[in-house]
Amino acid sequence: MNQTQASTIVIVGAGPAGCATSLFLSKLKIPHTVIEKNSFPRDKVCGDALSGKVVQVLKQLDPSLIQHFQNKPNAFLPSWGVQFVAPNGKSIDIPFKKDMQNEPHAPGFISKRMDFDATLFSWLDTTYATVLTETTLIDITNESDGHAITIQHKNELKQITDVKMLVGADGDRSIVGKKLIGRKKENKHYCAGIRAYYSGVTGLHEQNFIELHFLKDLLPGYLWIFPLPNGQANVGAGMLSASISAKKINLKESMLKAIENNPALKARFKNAELQGKIEGWGLPLGSKKRPLSGDHFLLTGDAGSLIDPFTGEGIGNAMYSGMLAAKHIQKCIEKNSFKAAFNEQYDHAFYERQWEELKLSHTMQKMVKFPWLFNFVVNKAHKNKLLRETISCMFEDLDMRAKLRNPLFYLKLIGND
Ligand SMILES: Cc1cc2nc3c(=O)[nH]c(=O)nc-3n(C[C@H](O)[C@H](O)[C@H](O)COP(=O)(O)OP(=O)(O)OC[C@H]3O[C@@H](n4cnc5c(N)ncnc54)[C@H](O)[C@@H]3O)c2cc1C
Repeated sequence: MNQTQASTIVIVGAGPAGCATSLFLSKLKIPHTVIEKNSFPRDKVCGDALSGKVVQVLKQLDPSLIQHFQNKPNAFLPSWGVQFVAPNGKSIDIPFKKDMQNEPHAPGFISKRMDFDATLFSWLDTTYATVLTETTLIDITNESDGHAITIQHKNELKQITDVKMLVGADGDRSIVGKKLIGRKKENKHYCAGIRAYYSGVTGLHEQNFIELHFLKDLLPGYLWIFPLPNGQANVGAGMLSASISAKKINLKESMLKAIENNPALKARFKNAELQGKIEGWGLPLGSKKRPLSGDHFLLTGDAGSLIDPFTGEGIGNAMYSGMLAAKHIQKCIEKNSFKAAFNEQYDHAFYERQWEELKLSHTMQKMVKFPWLFNFVVNKAHKNKLLRETISCMFEDLDMRAKLRNPLFYLKLIGND
């Protein structure tokens, strides 16, 4: 095995979490190495929706980056809102922002991960980042003052020693998480998802609203239809793994059955064509507060299980955690401290801003188990503009979203048409 020169900071994975960590480290002029087992462009099974949080993190990096999305309509579709379809078939349209007149660009975008991830990767700054693609992390050994890691490129094994900080951005099946923190899959906090690309789906929203369909046969999961550039759509379904096991559900069959038999969907898929295969992948949910760091390591994105338990969005938290990881590493270098006790500051920084949101989403995930409650809220919102605006504000304002956890919110709805 070859020994390579010491490298202080190593990021494993160049998805949204790893790229965000690298981009912010470069902005702070901190040299580092990025190891990625694939080369780009590469696919990642996903709904492809880029939430407002992704846009906000990119703006903190460089406000002009959003322009890039606007200049590439074949890869990035602006999205202005979300449509919820309740189990009774009633739907409500909720714009991402209450007042969109003066917005310079859409609050969110939809982009195939093939395009989005390759774009992020192309922005890595090789002045500060040594980027090793087609290179896989194989093993990690603890040393007294850091880690030694074994990596594989083609048939060649190499070791990098004296890694002061290892950033696990290696996704759902994270080796960093498994080896350093004993991370395991927990069915109560884990979702299975499948994704298909279709052309020819009709009835998509003119402002490219993403659609979440809470169909009776798919509860407590849902089916989504997200419009894509070039007239395509990302269609998929997700459900908590615990429910899949309990109900013995075959997600792919259930999704295809819904498309075939649900009257509203059937009409919209009449001339639709499946492009390629239906693919599956897991979603490690952030419905449980877990440690995100230890001696000489930080976990970001899916490696840290940070996906929103209600919407299934994980790219925003992956990039947000990457940004915080880079800022924390700057502090570690200043204080020459990479130990667990100091790294806890990273966990605090992440959960301080995101835990309330994850907790609320967990409550909403549980609400889906009660279709009558879902039907009730959607029925009310269907008739009541003020309620639709209230839900709209919930996308921007956590205090507003907290209302959903308060039984009084529902009591007030009963007496308010
Ligand atoms: C079906 C489905 C639908 C989803 N829909 C959405 C959505 O619409 N919007 C949204 O925001 N989120 C969605 N998510 C979640 C989102 O895909 C993830 O949260 C996001 O990809 C996390 O980014 P990441 O960088 O942490 O991990 P990843 O994107 O998985 O990137 C990890 C990277 O690490 C590399 N890697 C892995 N192991 C190694 C190794 N040993 N050595 C070197 N490199 C390695 C991989 O090749 C990969 O490039 C969905 C997920 C699924 C499964």
